[in-house]
Amino acid sequence: MSDEQNFWRRCSNCKKEIGWGAEYHVCNVSTCNRKRTGVVFCSVDCWDAHLGAARHRTAWSEERVAPKKP
Ligand SMILES: [Zn+2]
Ligand SMILES: [Zn+2]
Repeated sequence: MSDEQNFWRRCSNCKKEIGWGAEYHVCNVSTCNRKRTGVVFCSVDCWDAHLGAARHRTAWSEERVAPKKP
């Protein structure tokens, strides 16, 4: 099949590809970092843009590492 992804997910802000095993950032707010539906960001800058739209009262970004290619 040709739909095999060469990357893990796309940044929720700029749509840049986040590669397998790459570092990425999440929002610490629990509704924002659900495993399947949560938002992910390629950089702190993109998380910052999310912060402007989401208007969390208190939030910070957490660094994560994407899973290795299955
Ligand atoms: Zn981004
Ligand atoms: Zn958030």
